[in-house]
Amino acid sequence: MAGLVKVITGEMFSGKSRELARLVRESLSMGFRAQVFYPAHAVRGSWRDIDQRLSGVDGHLSLHPVPDGQAQYIAAWVRSETDVVAIDEGQFFSDDIVGVVRGLRRQGKLVLIGGLDQDYLENPFGRMGDLMCLANEVVKVHAFCAACGQADAAVSHRVARESGQVWVGDDYLPLCEDCYLMARNGQAMSLFVD
Ligand SMILES: [Zn+2]
Repeated sequence: MAGLVKVITGEMFSGKSRELARLVRESLSMGFRAQVFYPAHAVRGSWRDIDQRLSGVDGHLSLHPVPDGQAQYIAAWVRSETDVVAIDEGQFFSDDIVGVVRGLRRQGKLVLIGGLDQDYLENPFGRMGDLMCLANEVVKVHAFCAACGQADAAVSHRVARESGQVWVGDDYLPLCEDCYLMARNGQAMSLFVD
């Protein structure tokens, strides 16, 4: 039987990893076996916590930091008895992630992918767009805007003064489109720079 691909996406601090973890926990509680993959350079504390909390679930969960986010490791390391393959920080994986995910679905796996939809300049991030096209189901989650607190955030505004696309850290603010444009235009910057 063919599997299923589900993408959970949104900006920084929108709760993507939390939702991914919730789905993994739910799968484990139903007796399924899960493997979680994330790029080794972008390890999130949340998965370490989960590993500790779920370590009692007799080998039904294993976590795999993937060297340089090279997607072929996922293909190589997924075990035949695994039901659920969760991939976090999907935006940081190599381009072949798309083919790897398609292959896993063909093998009957439930593939859960969490990741940023856009970088801090509102560009589609990595292969997340392609993965969303491939997905059977896409969920966009949102934080509240950190500036106005009124609207759903849409963009991960970078507070750090680094300009490369990949900057792993917490120096971001989830902002709605209006506040993001103000911040980028240098207005109300006192809100964002200490
Ligand atoms: Zn706002």
